[in-house]
Amino acid sequence: MNLLRFILLVLLAWLVFRLVKRFLNRPSKGSSRISSKQPGDMVRCEQCGLHIPKIEAMRDGDRYYCSRQHLEESKGKHSS
Ligand SMILES: [Zn+2]
Repeated sequence: MNLLRFILLVLLAWLVFRLVKRFLNRPSKGSSRISSKQPGDMVRCEQCGLHIPKIEAMRDGDRYYCSRQHLEESKGKHSS
C-alpha cells in the first residue's frame, strides 16, 4: 500500500469538499445574503413606528409593539 498516494487522495478529497462547500455557501442572490445576516424578522411598532426584532416585540394579534406601554396605549386608542 502506497501511503503517499493515500495521503494525496485524502488531500484531494478534502480540497474538493471545501470547494463544494464554498460553492454551496455562496449566495446566488443579494437578498438571500441579507436575510441570512439578520438575526430574525423585524417588525414595526404600531404606535411609534420603531423597527424591532420580532422576538423582542410585544404582540397583540397581528400587531407588534416595541414596549408594553405602547401596546396599552394603542389598545386604548383603538377601543375608544
Ligand atoms: Zn413603540
